[in-house]
Amino acid sequence: MFRWYTQWLPRLTVGLWLMLLMSVRAGAQTSYRIVPRPPFVYYYAGEDERFLGQLDEALQSLRVGMETTLGATLPDEVRIDLPPSRSEFVRITGGRAPEWAGGIAYPDRRRIVIRPAHTIPGGVPISVTAAHEIGHILIHVANGGQGGIPKWLEEGLCQVLAGESRAGSLGALGRAAVANRLMGLPRIDDVLQYSAPDAELAYIEARYAAGSFVERFGWESVRRLLQETSPDRPFDAVFHAVTGVEYEYWQAEWLEKAQERYRGLALLDLDNLIWIGIVLLAMVAVIAVWIRKRIQFRKWLEEEDDDETPVDPSDEPIHPH
Ligand SMILES: [Zn+2]
Repeated sequence: MFRWYTQWLPRLTVGLWLMLLMSVRAGAQTSYRIVPRPPFVYYYAGEDERFLGQLDEALQSLRVGMETTLGATLPDEVRIDLPPSRSEFVRITGGRAPEWAGGIAYPDRRRIVIRPAHTIPGGVPISVTAAHEIGHILIHVANGGQGGIPKWLEEGLCQVLAGESRAGSLGALGRAAVANRLMGLPRIDDVLQYSAPDAELAYIEARYAAGSFVERFGWESVRRLLQETSPDRPFDAVFHAVTGVEYEYWQAEWLEKAQERYRGLALLDLDNLIWIGIVLLAMVAVIAVWIRKRIQFRKWLEEEDDDETPVDPSDEPIHPH
């Protein structure tokens, strides 16, 4: 009787504790506060009012510029989820967001989900990441939800519109150009779709390709591309009509120019700068040693000269006349 008591009670207690713990964990769903700031409705789990205020302020001013540039207006209500942890972000997005993405947009649902600020790759500020995702919704609106916009243009435009630039992106572009590894626009589309290991480079290339397009053809052409592309009018046909240039020709030309232009950027890469710095330091050290040796040599020569001081006249042999 006593044995049963001493043997089973501790096990029972441990079991009960485990059950309690598991039920607490299962019930520990993140509770979000819903904070409306039209057109945005934030789903926020934190308490930091200042953080939310600053994010909204930055986002409101960015979106006004983006709306004007794209000639499109956001829907009345756009939901912005701000999960507090990386695991909660993965849970909400069903693990669909690639590792390099700071957020994910659901344009049909007018909703974006942003990673917690400290986990966003490339040191991109959270307001810029959110603006990027808002860009996807605006492009969807500008396109009337018809589809057919190539990924490189959409991803590139979102980055340009949000003013996004990732740490080391120019260096990465330079390295790829030097190694002839730039993938070109058609491949960018595939890579972004399947989030291959090259996705980060594809993302960077997309930014510079969209930037080059805007530089050459202007925002009016971007607006027309977005508006006129539809299942009835594929992108390459609209591209030709809007720009007067064959889409395929432009793609090939961009790749060629990018190779040339970004090759020099490898020099700006931090790793390379460190190496260049080391080589320069070594050269300075070699030159310094050489100069020191020369100075020493001169001194030595001068000392030699000093040694050849005229012989004391008293030592001169006497030549009697
Ligand atoms: Zn994107």
